[in-house]
Amino acid sequence: MPEYRPSTNCLHAGYRPGNGEPRNPPIVQSTTFRYATGEAMGALFDLEAAGYFYTRLQNPTSDAVAAKICSLEGGSAAMLTSSGQAANFFAVFNIAGCGDHVVASSAIYGGTYNLFAVTMKRMGVEFTFVPPDCSDAELEAAFRPNTKAVFGETLANPALAVLDIQRFAAAAHAHGVPLIVDNTFPTPIHCRPFQWGADIVTHSTTKYMDGHANAVGGAIVDAGTFDWTAHADKFPGLTTPDESYHGVTYTERFGLAGAYITKATVQLMRDFGATPAPQNAYYLNIGLETLPLRMAKHCENALAVAKLLEAHPKVAWVNYPDLESSPSHALARKYMPDGTCGVVSFGVKGGREAASRFMAALELCSIATHVADAKTCVLHPASTTHRQMTDEELRAAGVSPDLVRLSVGIEDAQDILADLEQALDRV
Ligand SMILES: *Cc1c(COP(=O)(O)O)cnc(C)c1O
Repeated sequence: MPEYRPSTNCLHAGYRPGNGEPRNPPIVQSTTFRYATGEAMGALFDLEAAGYFYTRLQNPTSDAVAAKICSLEGGSAAMLTSSGQAANFFAVFNIAGCGDHVVASSAIYGGTYNLFAVTMKRMGVEFTFVPPDCSDAELEAAFRPNTKAVFGETLANPALAVLDIQRFAAAAHAHGVPLIVDNTFPTPIHCRPFQWGADIVTHSTTKYMDGHANAVGGAIVDAGTFDWTAHADKFPGLTTPDESYHGVTYTERFGLAGAYITKATVQLMRDFGATPAPQNAYYLNIGLETLPLRMAKHCENALAVAKLLEAHPKVAWVNYPDLESSPSHALARKYMPDGTCGVVSFGVKGGREAASRFMAALELCSIATHVADAKTCVLHPASTTHRQMTDEELRAAGVSPDLVRLSVGIEDAQDILADLEQALDRV
């Protein structure tokens, strides 16, 4: 197949129907697959032959969609998971276990922060969190001899800070470890982290990739370029025999292109079972087909919203990386030159109460604990997800009491702007 551009790959990568075959990837709604002989199936168990035998490990529908995401990111191998949480857990746990350490950006999704700081800590993995705009000395000081990876979000949810991918990749590589980045918010349409030195990319496909609030899901993509064997002492799980898999050494059998994703599939998916339903993979695939169109519209609308808010007398502040006033503007231009995403955060003058009144006055924009789907939705953490916290506690958590997070959808921009204006009038 020739090398196609991303918009074409969003439609065609991962699945090419043969003569008379279905135009869409079929939903292979089967847990198991039949074989003629025990030997044929045994070869699959020994990883000597490729093929499907049980959907907990692999399924043709999910694999077709993983291959599409792989091509969009420009990776060597990819897998789907049942959620973004599972993707980030697998991505880190595949190379860092009890007694190991990871350096992570502090500007990450709250669920990921909990996973790292609480749950994985209980599993014996230690994390050091550094602000994405920390000094080189602070970043350097975060590393330990047992550090196994560096983790960040290309465009942080909800802080909207842009990670300096090249700088974090250089620091990781100087210490012989990979950079893992969560690329959920910009998607590969607006940021391709592998071009800037990232080694592994994760996604919550629940957000823009699915795009219609249909299905929770995740993905992991490996660039296939990090040389595990050059730092074999750090990554014995990849470079020495896996006794739970008949002594296979992943880097020897599958090369740098396949070792990481094969291990995550046959070992972590086998044992933890965070497998997506084939039906959900199908929904995700439908979302991916229109991703470039939607991302362009999300950004166009969000910029119009951000500009309206910035000029509005009842708005205290606005954070949107495509605004020149944003502290992330320069990095956004470098890493996401075609635009960032549809999420805008801002403060309503008058604090918590004013923000609550604004929310109640909205008509088109719906109140939802979600971001990044086709319909505009809005969240006021101080009166919902963080309502038990005092103003002081909120500020300590980096969430100001007046903060409203607006996920701008793909409706007609005039209708979104009109709804925001009438709601601000009633504050
Ligand atoms: C939502 C989100 C996650 C978690 O994904 P789920 O699909 O909800 O499990 C991880 N990272 C980022 C950046 C997210 O926005």
